[in-house]
Amino acid sequence: MVTQYKVEKMNCVYCENERVVKNGRKKLKTGQIVQNYLCNECGRRFNERSGTPMTRLRTPGSKVEMALKARGEGLGIRATARVLGKSPSSITTWEKRLSNQLGKWSPKAPEGGEITI
Ligand SMILES: [Zn+2]
Repeated sequence: MVTQYKVEKMNCVYCENERVVKNGRKKLKTGQIVQNYLCNECGRRFNERSGTPMTRLRTPGSKVEMALKARGEGLGIRATARVLGKSPSSITTWEKRLSNQLGKWSPKAPEGGEITI
């Protein structure tokens, strides 16, 4: 099941700046309309699908989910980072970005799979 994720306020997926303007819409083969954006800071283009938190993180959703679960179980940030082979700053970034969005995730991802939002 694919859950469409709506982003209220877009930040650039590359430099995370908020100076982002709408840059036309594109219709996909599926009939779905995708809003395109242009970043005034770095000049790169992206669309609302590439702007989902999971895409921005460029990490399989299952790994992020594992990290957040480990944190939920009381494991420290450094320990969690070691277990997953990531840097502690990645873990804190995931927490900050996703802690308030967990409820919107699609149902549990298949083992080893990626979460599609
Ligand atoms: Zn940018």
